[in-house]
Amino acid sequence: MLELHCHTTHSDGTLTPPQLVDAAAVAGVEILAITDHDTMSGWEEATAAARTYNIEIVPGLELSTVHSNRSMHILGFYPNRERLETPLQSRLAGRHRRAQQMLDKLAELGYPVELANLNGSMAPGRPHIATALVRAGYVQSPQEAFERWLGDDKPAYVQYEKFSAVEGIQLLRQCQAVPVWAHPFLFRGGDVEAILPELVAAGLLGIEVYHPSHTPSQSRKLEALCQRYGLLMTGGSDYHGPSKQDDRHSGLNQLHLPTALLPPLQQAAQQLQSQN
Ligand code: AMP
Ligand code: ZN
Ligand code: FE
Ligand code: FE
Repeated sequence: MLELHCHTTHSDGTLTPPQLVDAAAVAGVEILAITDHDTMSGWEEATAAARTYNIEIVPGLELSTVHSNRSMHILGFYPNRERLETPLQSRLAGRHRRAQQMLDKLAELGYPVELANLNGSMAPGRPHIATALVRAGYVQSPQEAFERWLGDDKPAYVQYEKFSAVEGIQLLRQCQAVPVWAHPFLFRGGDVEAILPELVAAGLLGIEVYHPSHTPSQSRKLEALCQRYGLLMTGGSDYHGPSKQDDRHSGLNQLHLPTALLPPLQQAAQQLQSQN
């Protein structure tokens, strides 16, 4: 089975890449994509660990962009690392600045915290801040931290630095990565069907049809949109590690997706490589 959307400690996942690979092996995953937020730094560790098992690692990332003033995530698969590394540095630096802005807001609100153990190649996100707030004893759970301060429109929330979805898709295409709209039905800035043509025009090549947040009827709808626009289909559990408190992060390989989803993705990547 296959998993095309997973996070590690290189962004806001709680398992290191080797731990994730171990968990994937236990869960019966044969093909595992590493898609950390705005960083590619987890790949080597995952690839090295996967040699122990018969697991194929798909190199990827999840770009943070803004569309209609709301966050939109674009997955990129098989990027040319050399080309993407430098532009990605500025996205990653933006995530560090944004995290600091959220920490500043929390301090102003009377809840000062610090983020421990973050180096420059790791992507800080709201879950890191939520964990720090739990550690400081201000809240019982990360969920509570989101409800009080970190959720969209809550007092310590800060949007990603401006980088449009169209710019993100174009960047991925320039870097030979296959751009895929992540979890479209989690997007809060408009109607999926209405937005899609603009993303396709920018160079979108796929949709994450299968995601734990999608209902079966939403996935059917996305399958139909893929048909209509000639887009490839991906899926994954968006795994962030085991966590009892956060029921948004459910189990690895829970979707039992077929490995047949991989060849179209590989073909699209090869086509991009031969084009530029
Ligand atoms: P960021 O990219 O820093 O905005 O963080 C996004 C991550 O925060 C997502 O991957 C979610 O797992 C998590 N997240 C977003 N909203 C919530 C929420 N209301 N409760 C718990 N986790 C959330
Ligand atoms: Zn995440
Ligand atoms: Fe996402
Ligand atoms: Fe994700």
